[in-house]
Amino acid sequence: MDYKYLPDMDSEVFALIKEEENRQRNGLEMIASENYVSPAVLEAMSSVFQNKYSEGYCGKRYYAGNEVVDKIEGLAIERAKKLFGCNFVNVQALSGSPANLAVYFALLNPGDTVLGLKLNHGGHLSHGHPINFTGKTYNFIQYGCKGETGIVDMDEVEKLAKEHKPKMIVAGFSAYSRDFDWVRFKQIADSVGAITFADIAHVAGLIAGKAIKGPIEAGFDVVTTTTHKTLRGARGALIMSKDEEAAKKIDKAVFPGLQGGPHEHIIAGIAVALGEALKPEFQTYAKQIILNAQKLSDELLAKGFNIVSGGTDNHLIVVDLRNKNLPGKEFTDALDKAGISASASTVPNDPNPPMKPSGIRLGTPALTTRGMKEAEMIQVAEWISRVADDMENLANLAAIKQEVETFAAKFPVPGIF
Ligand SMILES: *Cc1c(COP(=O)(O)O)cnc(C)c1O
Repeated sequence: MDYKYLPDMDSEVFALIKEEENRQRNGLEMIASENYVSPAVLEAMSSVFQNKYSEGYCGKRYYAGNEVVDKIEGLAIERAKKLFGCNFVNVQALSGSPANLAVYFALLNPGDTVLGLKLNHGGHLSHGHPINFTGKTYNFIQYGCKGETGIVDMDEVEKLAKEHKPKMIVAGFSAYSRDFDWVRFKQIADSVGAITFADIAHVAGLIAGKAIKGPIEAGFDVVTTTTHKTLRGARGALIMSKDEEAAKKIDKAVFPGLQGGPHEHIIAGIAVALGEALKPEFQTYAKQIILNAQKLSDELLAKGFNIVSGGTDNHLIVVDLRNKNLPGKEFTDALDKAGISASASTVPNDPNPPMKPSGIRLGTPALTTRGMKEAEMIQVAEWISRVADDMENLANLAAIKQEVETFAAKFPVPGIF
């Protein structure tokens, strides 16, 4: 971005922005939940919508002067409906976790029984982890992957549903590389009269880009997503619902239940991103993300890495490092020194505690945004393998970092120029 005022008005903040731009440009961003938004999204996010209080919803605001805000929020809603084929959308939740809280607050009572995927099998904190508000407030029963397969055990989901008669079943994940069986989840939920809630925070962009199937076409009642992961928009969330009664409860839960004024400048940035996702190019992008993840997975398998579930159907892979004797955290630190950003991750039935996980999670959304394709994934796998071969050797890591920087310079980052 070109900065006109900051360099003079606040050189300290400006210098830090430049420092972060360099970090983002020089390294390889492989954290599966991250991406680079377009300059158009960045511009909308820094617009004067920032200045406006707009508590309430379109046509029903508490303060005056919201006639234009109503149009921008309405546009974001219309675009989300078109993109995902849903009936009702709330675009005000401030991020993915608050969006999930709003869904629970709207549709459950404290103490109600809910099924969710275990954190260390790829779930999210907000799916009922004991340290999270959700786990403390609702009676979460957690399902997981089958043995060492790394695949969600749908028979266990069915068994737990029959046994516990949950009010809601949550389907969704943060570190899981296989297609979710939305149809089977819906069948199981219907058989016990449970509400179906899907959290597609990670794969929303792949679903929007028609590269994989989503829960809305499977008939889910409620679907949340972040807007900043594969969907590549401003940081926020969408809450989509099928029927009007649920939609009304959800709106009330977001405001006045949990939040005050929505962030309309961010909603403007989300509207721009949704507009981008409606274009045919986005479908090409979504498909390429998956091709890249699959190529990366194949290359790492060939180098002796153990990929949880043996591969991927989406944008991420979880690498089980136990056979290489590399602790996940130390390995991500070494990768970082070599210019590659990744996150440590538990693996299903991880024998180690969550702060010392046995794996890492790698994603391709950000690299794909930079225009990288399968050929580049071969190179990336090579560097990851070289880091693994000599993780303690700082000279090795520094040499790789040099190569990474030269390589990365050939792939411009949107919004950084
Ligand atoms: C990232 C994520 C969230 C949380 O989103 P935040 O915007 O970080 O609050 C919720 N659910 C899932 C499945 C996620 O992957």
